[in-house]
Amino acid sequence: MTDYRRLRVALLGAGAVGSQVAALLRRHADELADRAGARLELVGIAVRDIDAPREADLPRELLTTDAESLIVGSDIVIELMGGIEPARTYLLQAINSGADIVTANKALLATHGPEIFDAADQVGAEVYYEAAAAGAIPIIRPLRDSLAGDRVQRIMGIVNGTTNYILDRMDTEGAEFADVLADAQRLGYAEADPTADVEGYDAAQKAAILASLAFHTTVPLDAVHREGITGIDKAMMDAARHAGYVIKLLAVCERLSEASGSESISVRVYPALIDRAHPLASVHGANNAVFVQAEAAGNLMFYGAGAGGVQTASAVLGDVVSAARRHIAGGVGVGESTLADLPIVAIGRVITRYQITLEVDDQPGVLATVAGILSDGRVSIATLEQTVTGEDAETARLVIGTHKALEQDLSETVDRLAASGVVERVVSVLRVEGD
Ligand code: NAP
Repeated sequence: MTDYRRLRVALLGAGAVGSQVAALLRRHADELADRAGARLELVGIAVRDIDAPREADLPRELLTTDAESLIVGSDIVIELMGGIEPARTYLLQAINSGADIVTANKALLATHGPEIFDAADQVGAEVYYEAAAAGAIPIIRPLRDSLAGDRVQRIMGIVNGTTNYILDRMDTEGAEFADVLADAQRLGYAEADPTADVEGYDAAQKAAILASLAFHTTVPLDAVHREGITGIDKAMMDAARHAGYVIKLLAVCERLSEASGSESISVRVYPALIDRAHPLASVHGANNAVFVQAEAAGNLMFYGAGAGGVQTASAVLGDVVSAARRHIAGGVGVGESTLADLPIVAIGRVITRYQITLEVDDQPGVLATVAGILSDGRVSIATLEQTVTGEDAETARLVIGTHKALEQDLSETVDRLAASGVVERVVSVLRVEGD
């Protein structure tokens, strides 16, 4: 057995992911040592409650409630506690005591990323976070390293497994949102409080992380436009299917270019229609996928498990091996590149296609009125389908597909349609992504 140098590895958290990381570190110790060029010695695991049941069989003597003492003298600190505090304080302590850090904590990076990256920069430490954006899927390193010589134009990600599971079952089974959510909670795909997932907060954190990397710009979480999926119902799903689309919760990170040559970015999370032929349409169940469009590379798709203890542990261990190699090679860590510092535009400046569904009076002249309001609002019609609904056949449903339009024009136009007197109800307005 090669006599490798030992690196002290501290693990903070032994929950769904942490317990798997600890188990794999121990089970594959020899192989990991060969790959890393160093023996990764797990010196301790910080938890809240030493007696809590663990998913993996971990030696009790490694468990401690004293995270701070564990961090002192460690070469690599893996943070898998989640939440903002005390994770933030512990990571800053680890950086300042000379450790490289590995974290899967999207909530922390999306809110305090710059503080942590700056602290690491100042001491030449490195921050690894492959598991923070889409679980097991390698997407951080491709954006940070593989595509560092290219220009990313757009990222469209299905980055939340819970919402994809819900929308997929609504699409394939014709089920209602509330029924599938209850099922997802029973099966463990959704939390008892599903707000972070179904309202798009989790996806927005990941969008902020991905956009920051892709566009070399710090993207604060509050610059991410966010809408969830609670308003999506069976009728919207049916209408989408009928028109050849599927509804997915998308994280869209986009580079916008003005005619003047100036550039900005838009980062947004919302349920959107995508063509059933688009690669993202075939992402089923709780899987995640990130579709990247780069100027030279063209279209790339990264697909796989966006969560799960052992799956996420794979990404964490990849980071640990990278951190170990860097520790052995020496030199300062590579900081995050935020040099582009592009302005981030509000949702009103986004240009995309839309599908507007209206209930209107089935009277002569109504179509002409609707078409006039759209045209006055600089929204041009690409497709129009009318069906007569209601028992008295006095109501018609109009499904209007638009050409690309400015979001601000579109929303003002929809307000005018709603107030027009011929529109009984604006049933839905959905963006169409994926062109
Ligand atoms: P988890 O199951 O809730 O486990 C959290 C662990 O941290 C527990 O072992 C807990 O100790 C420990 N902990 C919490 N607060 C602590 C404190 N103040 N001091 C010491 N230990 C503390 O969480 P998880 O699902 O493994 O997620 C960990 C991180 O990975 C999160 O940032 C999450 O967003 C990220 N992530 C998770 C997944 C996934 O599939 N689960 C996927 C991608 C990323 P006790 O066991 O004693 O309570």
